[in-house]
This record gives sequence, structure tokens and C-alpha cells, in this order.
Amino acid sequence: MARSIPVNVVDNPALCRFIMPAIVDRSPVIAAVSTGGASPVLARLIRGRLEALIPAAFGRLASLAAEFRGEVKARIAEPVRRRQFWERILTGPVAEMVFAGRGDDARAALKTALESDGDAGETTGEVYLVGAGPGDPDMLTFRALRLMQQADVIVHDRLVSRRVLDLTRRDAPRIYAGKKRADHSLPQENINALLVRLAREGKRVLRLKGGDPFMFGRGAEEALHLLRHAIEFEVVPGITAALACAAYAGIPLTHRGLARHLHFVAGHCRGDVPLDLNWQALADPDSTLVFYMALANLDEVRTHLLRVDLAGDTPVALVESGTTNRQRCISTTLDGMVRAAHAQRVASPTVVIIGRVAALASELAWFTPPGAPQPAPLDHGISTYG
Ligand code: SAH
Repeated sequence: MARSIPVNVVDNPALCRFIMPAIVDRSPVIAAVSTGGASPVLARLIRGRLEALIPAAFGRLASLAAEFRGEVKARIAEPVRRRQFWERILTGPVAEMVFAGRGDDARAALKTALESDGDAGETTGEVYLVGAGPGDPDMLTFRALRLMQQADVIVHDRLVSRRVLDLTRRDAPRIYAGKKRADHSLPQENINALLVRLAREGKRVLRLKGGDPFMFGRGAEEALHLLRHAIEFEVVPGITAALACAAYAGIPLTHRGLARHLHFVAGHCRGDVPLDLNWQALADPDSTLVFYMALANLDEVRTHLLRVDLAGDTPVALVESGTTNRQRCISTTLDGMVRAAHAQRVASPTVVIIGRVAALASELAWFTPPGAPQPAPLDHGISTYG
């Protein structure tokens, strides 16, 4: 110290002339957390939270702001208006484009906004097609959460859970778009038209879908429609029911020696039309099959798979309301699955996991929904978890 050399002694704040804070580096943005030497572990924990809140792309956003700072200052002289301009840029479509890796689009949109004298390009909005995951809000992505909190209006499906909806911006109107089997609250064409109309009103529209928007979610139909109407959109993946339910039931969808392929299968059909699938291609003991929307057609699924020689004792798991506090996993077999579904009154939403891996649920099930009754063994080799 006498030689004016800064000193840091680990775990001894009294001897330190300087401390080393935990930093979040989103250069040129740097956030530092210090507890004044009281608890470096706590500083690290706080840093972890900040890291989760500040997307890695904030650095790129700051660089873009730096690039335009002089120009904006020259063009919008009035400080309050200039601040409002920046607020709109940094929380609006321009920022989203940066986060989505569309730097050139962001630059162009910022320029346009500036040229139209600071209205931040809000004349046309955009649509975020966002996957809300299987129900538990913990399973949202950071990106989904951020968009949920900044959207002006929310258009959601039935499968999006109440707890997830509760995280959307409070003052943003919510529009329920359906759909249940046989209750198509808003036909798809109307949903498409609604998204276009809202975006044309200049709104940032959050199209929130259960699971992943591109997995049996008709997300691409909406995206194509938006494209045809020149509305900007982006797609945010969500954890699809198959992955979430499998993980929460203790079923690895692939496993060395048990399953080398995985099929995601739509198990529904319209009206009286029979389920038209390439059953032969599905009847492979090395594959795991995950059926979505199949409850009403379980009998048909069973009959077809038995006909193409998938063994009757192939393990099956019916996972109902996966990840939520109503989750149930019914372990059965291809032979027994229809009977088990009836006996246990299995209801929608449920995925049907067929394949050798399904048997691992009996060992690997780790999740017991809060307040669920203890697992009780049943007869005919069928057991329930939760
Ligand atoms: N896009 C959604 C799927 C929509 S199709 C996704 O990626 O998950 C609707 C079907 O998804 C339901 O019939 C059911 O088979 C399945 N599903 C959705 N959420 C579920 C959940 N929490 N538990 C079990 N199955 C679920």
C-alpha cells in the first residue's frame, strides 16, 4: 500500500484497497454487483439473476444506439421527445429485431423511424408467434416472457394455462381464440384475419400458443398468412408437450438400446374420416411414438399398431396435464391402453407415449404434483403415478 500498489486480499476485506465485483458483461454494457466483501456468493447469485434479465444481445442493442446517437440528437433536439424516442426504440420492434439477430432490419427500421420524425415506425405493428410451453410458467423461455410483458394485445389458445396468462402485461387486452375438439371458438381464417387487423392498427401482437407454435399448433399457417399480408413476425419456440411430459414422467424419449428414433404423431382426424397414417412406418420396436390429440382415437391407434405387428406388451404411458399440478401418468401397454384410459378417466390434454422407453417411468418418475395422492398400485399391471 505504501508503494501505491492496489491490493486485494481474498476473504479479508480489511486488507483490501479494492474489491472485485461480480460482473455481467454485455459489452459495451457492464453491470457490476458488489456486496462490499460481505458475501461474494451472494454477489454471484445476484449476478445470476441479472444475467437472466439482461439478454446477451443487449450489447448489440447498445452498439446500435451508439451508432445512431449523434444523428438522433441532431434530428430530435428537444430532450424529452428524444428520451421518448429512445424508450420506444429500446423496447419496441427495433430492439426485438436486434435480439432476433436481424441487425440490418433493425438499422433500417431505426432510420425510417427517425426520418418519420420519431414515431418509431409504429404505424404497422408485428406479430410474435410464441410457444407458451406445456403449462408450468417455469417452462417459458426468457424471450417468451419478455415479449409477453411488452405486447399490446394477446391472442391465446385454450391450452395456454391461467398461470402463464397471468404473466402477460396487465393492461394488454386478451383475446381467446379457442380451440377444443368440436369447439372451434374462432375458425382459423378468422384468427389469421384478426392477427393482420391488429398488426395493421400498429399493435405488437402476442400470439400465444400451448407448447411449441410449430408443433401441431398451426403456427406456420398463421406465419404464411402474415407473410402474404406483409406483416412482420417472429417465432419463439416453446417446450412441446412430448418433451415436457416425457421429462416430467421420467421417460427418456431416446435411450441407448431401447429407442433410436422418435415420431411425433397427430392422432386426431376430422369427423368420421378414419385416422390415415403410415402405420407400417410406425411399427418399429426401436422407435418411440408420441401421439398428440389421440384420446378420442385410442382404440383405432391400438388396432392399427397391433395389425402391423407392434407387440401387444409394448409399454405405453398416458401423460395427462403434464408439468401441471394435475399431472397424472398412467403406465400400461399397447394391449391395455384403451381399458386403462377408460378406467382412469383420462382426459385432455394427454400425450400417449408408446415404446420400450415408456417402461422406464416406473423407475425414473421423479415428479409428484403438489397435493397429489400417493401412487397406488392397481391390478392388471397398470399403475398410476400421482
Ligand atoms: N403446440 C402444442 C400441441 C398442440 S396439439 C405443443 O407443442 O405441445 C394439442 C395436444 O397437445 C393435446 O391434445 C395433447 O395431446 C398435447 N398436450 C398439450 N399440452 C399438454 C400437457 N400439458 N399434457 C399433456 N398433453 C399435452
